[in-house]
Amino acid sequence: MTTESRKDVVGLKISHRKIIAAAAVAVVTALCIMMFMLCRCRTYATVQFHMDTFISYYVESSFPEKAVDAMDREVRRCEQLFDRFSPESEITLINANAGNYTEVSEETYRLIAEAVKLAEENGGYFDPTLGAVSDLWGFGTDPRVPSEAEIGSAMEHVGYDRIGFMEKEGSFFVRAGEGQSIDLGGIAKGYALRLIGEAAAEAGCRSAVISFGGNVVLTGRGPDGRDVFSVGIRVPEENATSAAVVLNLGGGVVSTSGSYERFFVENGVRYCHIIDPFTGSCAAGDLVSVSVICDDPVEADCLSTALFVRGLDGTLDALASGEVTGVAIDGSGAVYISPDLTEAVDYDSVAQGYRLEVVG
Ligand code: ADP
Ligand code: MG
Repeated sequence: MTTESRKDVVGLKISHRKIIAAAAVAVVTALCIMMFMLCRCRTYATVQFHMDTFISYYVESSFPEKAVDAMDREVRRCEQLFDRFSPESEITLINANAGNYTEVSEETYRLIAEAVKLAEENGGYFDPTLGAVSDLWGFGTDPRVPSEAEIGSAMEHVGYDRIGFMEKEGSFFVRAGEGQSIDLGGIAKGYALRLIGEAAAEAGCRSAVISFGGNVVLTGRGPDGRDVFSVGIRVPEENATSAAVVLNLGGGVVSTSGSYERFFVENGVRYCHIIDPFTGSCAAGDLVSVSVICDDPVEADCLSTALFVRGLDGTLDALASGEVTGVAIDGSGAVYISPDLTEAVDYDSVAQGYRLEVVG
C-alpha cells in the first residue's frame, strides 16, 4: 500500500466517526427537546357551560389545551347520556318506557345501579326517582308551588327500590317503575367529574382544579405552586363570592349543596331545588349549606344532597361520628366542621357574621 492510499483509509475512518458522532449528537438533542417539551408543563384555564351550569378547568400539563379538550368531551358525553330533558338521552328513553325494560349502554346501567346503591346507603334521603316531583316544582322551567294533591299523586311514583335491572347475553336493560321518572341530576355532575379526573390522569396532567356547579376536584398542586389547596366554602348567599371559611386541603373532592343558588321565593317562603323524597316538598330546612370532602366525586355529590335533605341534626350526627368529613352552615351563621378538619381549617379566615364550631 502506498502512503497516499493509507491516508485515504485513515481519512475515511475519521469521516465515519464524524458521522456517527454527529448522529449521536442529533439523537441526544432530539431527546433533550422531547424531554424539555414533556417537562415544560404549562398551565391553562378556561370556563365552559354544561348541564345548566358553569364548569371551570385549571390544568398543569405539557399539552394543557388537549387535556382540557379530552376532559370536556367527557362532560358533553355525560350530558347526552343523562339529561332527562333531552329527547335522545338514555334516561329519556327509560322514562318514556317506564314499566318496561329498555336496553341501555352498560355505562348508563352501571350509573343507575350506583345511584340506587347510594340511595340505599343514605337511608333514601337521596333518591334518583324524584323526576315526577321535580317536574311539578318546575325547577329549570317555570318554578311554582304545587298543591298537596299534586305532590301526593307524584309521590306515588317515587321509590328507588322500584327500578329493575336485567343483564342478558352482554346487553343491559333498566326498567323504571310504572309512571316513574328517573332523575340523575343529583349525581350527574359528580359522575362527569369522575370521568374528567380519569381523562386528566390519562392526559398526563400534573395538577388540575375543576369546579363544576358546587363540586370541586383538586389534584396535584394548587395554582400558587403549594402542595395544599386553599378552598373557600362559599358564604351561602345568592351571588356571594367570598368564603365563610377557608380549608387547606391536600386534594380530593369538595361538594357543596345549598339553598342559595337554585331557589325561588313565593309568599315569603324560599323553595330550593333539592327535594325531600319522604314528603315531596322542597328541602329548605334548617341548613343553608353542606359541604362534603372525600375522594370520589359521585359519592361527594350524592352525600351533600342527601345531608341537605337530612337537615341540621342528622348532618351534625354524621359529622360528629366520623361518618362524613365536611362543613355545615346554618341560618344563624354557625359553621360546623367535622373533628378531622381541625388541622385543615384556617381559623383566621372565618368571615364576619360567621362563627366556627367543631362538632363531636
Ligand atoms: P346540589 O349541588 O345543590 O346538591 P345537585 O345539582 O347536586 O344540587 O342536585 C340537585 C338535583 O338533583 C336537582 O336539580 C334534582 O334534579 C335532583 N334532586 C333533588 N333532590 C334530590 C334528592 N333528594 N335525591 C336525589 N336527587 C335529587
Ligand atoms: Mg349534589
